Amino acid sequence: MESVIQYAKTLFGLDLSTEQIAMFSRYADELTAWNSHTNLTAIIEPQAVAIRHFLDSLSLVPYLNTDSPKKMIDVGTGAGFPGMVLAILFPHHQMTLLEATGKKIKFLDHIIGLLNLKNTYTLNQRAEDAGQMSGHRAKYDVVMARAVARLPALLEYMLPLAKMNGVCIAMKGVSAQDELTDSKVALKTLGGRFDKIETVMLPTVDEAHHLVFIQKVLQTPPDYPRKPGIPAKKPLI
Ligand code: SAM
Repeated sequence: MESVIQYAKTLFGLDLSTEQIAMFSRYADELTAWNSHTNLTAIIEPQAVAIRHFLDSLSLVPYLNTDSPKKMIDVGTGAGFPGMVLAILFPHHQMTLLEATGKKIKFLDHIIGLLNLKNTYTLNQRAEDAGQMSGHRAKYDVVMARAVARLPALLEYMLPLAKMNGVCIAMKGVSAQDELTDSKVALKTLGGRFDKIETVMLPTVDEAHHLVFIQKVLQTPPDYPRKPGIPAKKPLI
């Protein structure tokens, strides 16, 4: 965790508390232990976990660091990145970790119990189904996702979950601008408006990461999201 502590300070101005560092370490240790019998993540080397999972998740901190409590959801959270890291950091925000795969939910529930996180909930659903559920549709101030789908399909997962004027943040790699160019129809159809792209450079990682910010400016029509699998198979392009 040494590199996370150091770079969180220099890159994001973040002074991690002793308690937060202990929780990150516990989480990383459990991830390694579980990954030996359950396929949770392809990134397992400790330094890569520190930079590509923990530090990359922390790249959202400057945009979420508000005093007023927010309802947030991480779509396709996998082993909890970025959502679990941010939930540990911001106990006053509420975090829902949405994930389709049951074994990953089991791991996430284990970490929530182990770290006694009172602000974190799991949701074992497809995003396409969650977006049609009254308890989740248009309920979130912030919807985030990393490495889940190309942006036109991802927007169909994310925008239905966002409140009016809520924000969707897609964490993207080098293809961010191309994916955004392909997302004009999705944005118009689903009620989203492009806000900005912020570029993040992480130590030891050659390629830039991009945070794509989309604001929800109109209600998403009730037909969206479509049935599971359709947004990826027939994206709104
Ligand atoms: N966000 C995590 C990260 O960056 O480490 C996990 C990325 S992993 C490549 C993609 C995850 O999204 C998988 O765990 C997968 O099960 C989940 N996923 C993909 N499509 C989904 C959907 N339609 N609804 C819910 N989860 C989905």
